[in-house]
Amino acid sequence: MTDILLNTSSCKSIIHCGDGAFVKYAPLLGGQKFLVTDTNVNAIYGKLIKEYFVGCGLYVLPAGEKSKTFRYLSDILAAMADAELNRSCTVIAFGGGVVGDIAGLAASLYMRGVNAVQIPTTLLSQVDSSVGGKTAVDFKNIKNLVGTFYQPSEVIVDPLFLKTLPPREIRCGLGEIIKYAALDKVVYSKLLKEANIFSLDFLGSIVPDCIRHKVRVVSVDERDVNGIRKTLNLGHTTGHAAELYYRRKSHGEFVLIGMYYELHIAEKLKIGDVKYYAELRRLIERAVKIPVYADIEKAAGLAKMDKKNTGESISLVVPTSEGESTELKLSFDEYVRLLKEVNQ
Ligand code: NAD
Ligand code: ZN
Repeated sequence: MTDILLNTSSCKSIIHCGDGAFVKYAPLLGGQKFLVTDTNVNAIYGKLIKEYFVGCGLYVLPAGEKSKTFRYLSDILAAMADAELNRSCTVIAFGGGVVGDIAGLAASLYMRGVNAVQIPTTLLSQVDSSVGGKTAVDFKNIKNLVGTFYQPSEVIVDPLFLKTLPPREIRCGLGEIIKYAALDKVVYSKLLKEANIFSLDFLGSIVPDCIRHKVRVVSVDERDVNGIRKTLNLGHTTGHAAELYYRRKSHGEFVLIGMYYELHIAEKLKIGDVKYYAELRRLIERAVKIPVYADIEKAAGLAKMDKKNTGESISLVVPTSEGESTELKLSFDEYVRLLKEVNQ
């Protein structure tokens, strides 16, 4: 088991990672507690929740992104008020990124902010959303439009929960892990050496390395203002557009597809090390099948929907060499031309 510390200007957060973290740290959460989970997680872990959080208030959100709304946020806050929670209570988010984002937001708003703890149960939430303090709900059909920066005091990351995840959710988390590989030498070399990158033992063991990377980034750019936190969007510009184009929910998979295309673009523009790019693409191909677009203009056009891409300019974060990356700003026409060349 390992503890990772996140120190930001606003707070200190401790992330307990490893086998047995839940059993060891969940009972230590003291005071008045209120737990938010979702219907799927509750169906699998409801007994465990009752056993470890006796007498704790509970709100069970319908599973899925469609619940990340003001309506459910307001419902959670109402349930917290009905439970007569006081200022020293703890809100526990027990679930994937949807639960983490909305429960984190509720914790940041209730009585102007109460203690928040994250217990992430998906691979994606373990390596990404539970760490770093971004909370949100979707609004007016725009993802994460309304939210706060609010660090949890503790995050309990236990590989135990990965055992019940459907394969699609494993692939989603793996997408973000391969993204970290393009940003972080340690994650990269471990992935290259591993014969079975889908093995749960392997995934559980690499989670703390990904968290360490995110912690380093967040500790110097908590509020996403100086460009460093933006590097975590590697692959996401073309990935989000692919997600909209194919209209399937499989975020991590599309991040990989986005990375694959963006690596080719970076190579054509002679941005970084060609051998390294080829190695990264081989890694991506081990995890996901790369599609050829029938309508590349449409796919490229969807990249404009991304908040990061203002006006006619498209922003891509691309790796340059092991552990290094840079931001590329392309005109929309150039982006389309390059995507077309790659798509042939
Ligand atoms: P999710 O929370 O919808 O979980 C995916 C599915 O897995 C759900 O159906 C859930 O019920 C189920 N599930 C969760 N744990 C399980 C378990 N242990 N066993 C079986 N099933 C389980 O989605 P996600 O992929 O975890 O997170 C996506 C969300 O995270 C998005 O809303 C995204 O915007 C957000 N996000 C936030 C940040 C951040 O920094 N705050 C970063 C990345 C993503
Ligand atoms: Zn992502």
